Formats: sequence, C-alpha cells, structure tokens
Amino acid sequence: MDALAFIAVLIGFILLMEAVAWITHKYVMHGFLWSLHKSHHEPRKGTFEKNDWFAVFFAIPSMILMYFGVHGTPLALAAGLGILGYGLIYFFFHDILVHRRIDFGLRPKKGYLARVVQAHRLHHAVEGKHGCVSFGFIFAPSPQRLKTMLAATQDKTMRAPAKA
Ligand SMILES: [Zn+2]
Ligand SMILES: [Zn+2]
Repeated sequence: MDALAFIAVLIGFILLMEAVAWITHKYVMHGFLWSLHKSHHEPRKGTFEKNDWFAVFFAIPSMILMYFGVHGTPLALAAGLGILGYGLIYFFFHDILVHRRIDFGLRPKKGYLARVVQAHRLHHAVEGKHGCVSFGFIFAPSPQRLKTMLAATQDKTMRAPAKA
C-alpha cells in the first residue's frame, strides 16, 4: 500500500475530527446533550465527569475503523488512527494543558500552545450553555478575536473569574 496515501488519510482524519468536534461541541454538547456536557462547565466532583462519555462515543468509530483496517482495508486503519490521534491531541490540550487533570506543571506562556489554552479558557468564561465562544482546539482563534466575539454576544452570563 501507498505510504503517502496512508499518511494523507491519517492527517485528513485528524483535521476532519477538528471539524466534527467543533460542530458536536457547539450544536450537540451545548444543545440537546447539554445534560452530559454540563458536568464539564461545573466544578468536577471526583475523577470523572459525565462529559467523559463523549470520549467513549468517539472511540467507537475509531475502533470499528481500526478493526476493518487490520482485516483487509488498510486505509480504514489510517482513518481510525486519525480519530485516535485527534483524541490524544484533544486529551493533551484540553485535559492536561487547560484543565490539568494530570498536572505535569506545563504552563505555556507564549506561542501556539498558550493560544490554545487561552482560547479554551475563554470558552469557559461564560456561565451555562448559551453565548460561549471557541468550540474547537487545533484552530484556536486569537484571544482578541474571541473577546470581541464575547463582547458582541448578548445572550450570556459571564462567569466569576476562576482561581485556577
Ligand atoms: Zn463547552
Ligand atoms: Zn474545557
């Protein structure tokens, strides 16, 4: 099999998952499945939160694709690994860098990673499900742009600044 095609599909699926995550976060998690995502917008009690079910949901297509990948359709393996890769990037950015569920002491001060962290902090600047900004991860808009978007949204309640 063509290694280039394999890599292209893998990277393509990482990028595709950013779009899927953005749409799911904005319209599903802040929509009809807010009941699960709400746990992530409130202080966590214990190790897990209901919101972690989304990671389980996204692991299912990844595992199915990898199954077909090792049983005769190699490009399906690339697609499955792409979804897994996005999951790992998301876990590193979101759960480690921003929310410090495992704290390695990483505090990016400048550059791309600082921008990713700031963009997601601004996602959490609003109380409740309405009027939030910044639903993706890999493509993090600049903090200035997000603050302008936040200021322009009427339908929101700002959250008291967190200590973390
Ligand atoms: Zn959210
Ligand atoms: Zn978050």
